[in-house]
Amino acid sequence: MNLPIKYRPIKFAQVVGQQVAVAIAQASLVQTPLQTTFLLVGASGSGKTTLARIMARSLNCKEKVGVEPCNQCSSCLSHLSDRHLAINEINGADKNGVDDVRGIIERCQINTLDSKYRVFIVDECHQMSKPAQNAMLKLLEDPPQDTVFILCTTEEDKLLETIRSRARILRFGTVPRDLVTGYLLNVAYHEGITLSEHEAQRIYEYNKGSIRQSLQTLGTVSEGVSVADLCPQISRDELQSLFIAFENRDYIQIDRIQQRVCHQGFYPKQLLTDLIDLAIEIMAMLETSPHFVANANRMLEVVIPAISKLGNSSNAQANCRLTLYHALTVWQSSVSKEMLEDTQTSSSVTNTHTSSVSQLPSDVLGERVQTQSQSSQASQFGSATYANQLPQSPLSVPQHQFAFPTGHRPYLPAQQ
Ligand SMILES: [Zn+2]
Repeated sequence: MNLPIKYRPIKFAQVVGQQVAVAIAQASLVQTPLQTTFLLVGASGSGKTTLARIMARSLNCKEKVGVEPCNQCSSCLSHLSDRHLAINEINGADKNGVDDVRGIIERCQINTLDSKYRVFIVDECHQMSKPAQNAMLKLLEDPPQDTVFILCTTEEDKLLETIRSRARILRFGTVPRDLVTGYLLNVAYHEGITLSEHEAQRIYEYNKGSIRQSLQTLGTVSEGVSVADLCPQISRDELQSLFIAFENRDYIQIDRIQQRVCHQGFYPKQLLTDLIDLAIEIMAMLETSPHFVANANRMLEVVIPAISKLGNSSNAQANCRLTLYHALTVWQSSVSKEMLEDTQTSSSVTNTHTSSVSQLPSDVLGERVQTQSQSSQASQFGSATYANQLPQSPLSVPQHQFAFPTGHRPYLPAQQ
């Protein structure tokens, strides 16, 4: 069932969660002289092309009410059936050369019969080459009469500044969770699909808030295919265990978790992305220790740039392992630096550090760190000893910095 097409908004009033962009579009369409260049900026699936189409239809509608297209006149109907001669959609990813812009210029000469405006919707316009963007700029600077350009992009900063400065920019934000889940529940009800609120939230999270992709997922739910099948999630326990392993400086455990998650069929990219999300979630909690925040921050500085280079290739898992290793060395070095300062200043600092983990949100890490700490002591693999066994890497700090003074166990809860 293709729900994204079935439920694609055809009126301004039907657009979900983009009130500001819709309000600017509506206000712009009644202004004189008419703005001739619009730039719609937002994440994939946020509704840019949908709004561009409604704007194009509104411009040519013969019986619109205010700016709302009637969707019944000959112009609206021909556009809804993809036969409108004056409304052109171009994919900047495919048509990205200077010759393609020349094609647009030629189409501007064609008589639009009874249509009031010629409209060009250019999707993914940032993918046009720089020469093509320059040619486009000339067109925007001196547009043919009654011609409107609606450019859509997910990467605004790849566009020429001179194009951006000529356009009225409409920004598409992330649609709030409640709005999307409510919308999904509503659509599911109309389609006779059994969907719980929890499942709707899972679809939202899996699709990073994109309504189009969320509808696509919902349309695939059937008797034999559940939401859990369509939106697999890395267990939160696994992600929390990763942080505990960081706290315990236990690279072997980190590697085990990484391998376990990948064997479950998840891409390394998703593991790192989810790790980032959880780190930020923990960092935002009021009760989180400043030491954890500092270390997590350093870890993110390693992990975030690595994600874009990870891909889904066969090398991805090796790169993921390396990234986690580097993240751990950064985490450790910060502990070690603090440790060195502490040992140089005073022995009274011990209490400050031992309290740092106990300050972590108890529902996130507290209990598990305690448990692991106790078990590691029982197996004589205390964190300080374990840290000494880690292999060196170009990013790691000198070996002696991993040796913690006896009885001083930073990041581990105070011994009972
Ligand atoms: Zn109409």
